[in-house]
Amino acid sequence: MQYAVVDGARSEAFKKGQGSCPVCGGAVIAKCGPRVAHHWAHTRRNTCDPWWENETVWHRSWKNCFPEECREVIHASEDGEIHRADIRSRLGVYIEVQHSSLSDAERISREDFYQNLVWVVDGTPFQKSFRLGHILPDPDSELGKDLIWYKAKGRTCEAANAMFFRISTNRKSYPALSKTNMPDGLVELAFFRQVATEIKADYRGHHQYEWRRPRRTWLDAACPVFIDFGYDFLCKLEKYDATGLSCVRLVPKRQFLNDLEALDDARAIGQMPLAVWFDPV
Ligand SMILES: [Zn+2]
Repeated sequence: MQYAVVDGARSEAFKKGQGSCPVCGGAVIAKCGPRVAHHWAHTRRNTCDPWWENETVWHRSWKNCFPEECREVIHASEDGEIHRADIRSRLGVYIEVQHSSLSDAERISREDFYQNLVWVVDGTPFQKSFRLGHILPDPDSELGKDLIWYKAKGRTCEAANAMFFRISTNRKSYPALSKTNMPDGLVELAFFRQVATEIKADYRGHHQYEWRRPRRTWLDAACPVFIDFGYDFLCKLEKYDATGLSCVRLVPKRQFLNDLEALDDARAIGQMPLAVWFDPV
């Protein structure tokens, strides 16, 4: 952890420092080695906060994006359960910065505990099995409402091979066709390139993706999940439309941090439409 209590005050680790843990009150000593971020560690193994994971450089750099008083904030539930959140924004949004994988039960208990929570997940451990695919039009645009996309996989992640069909042109054969009422026979297919200009004009940050061996708990999360692959944008996991197609929405880190300064609802973070078009590599 970054902060301990020394002489009654919150303090960062310093050489030969000794203090106490703000959660359990146990003794902690400063670790100020040359290779790891300076931190505090309990002098004995204990069961202080079972949700706490060993801090990486990545954790520390996220915490340092926020004012000092927003880092490692203690939260107690009404029934007396106590945990230390990685970050709590000034307006009360909790941010859990998660490097290691979580079970469904662990993920759910944290969402229940913090409630107004966003996840920032380190994507680098599974970067090789995650592929950012072609752009999608805003699902609320006229075009977005008319197209039914096939889930991108392999070559169809690329715009050149992406396929969909239009509700409007296929209604001739299937009058009841809608995003929740799929045809059971052949449809007239269309290709991305045929409407590339219109799709780009309606782009608001949505992309297809392919995630082999996904960490399913993040797809089932009740609180918003932002994956950090180390780029200057985050990938927010979303459902694209009523067909259930999953997509990611790119959110610049700058915007994510601005939203957390300005908004008090976790679900409102990262919702602003993206104006510039990211060309996935
Ligand atoms: Zn402790």
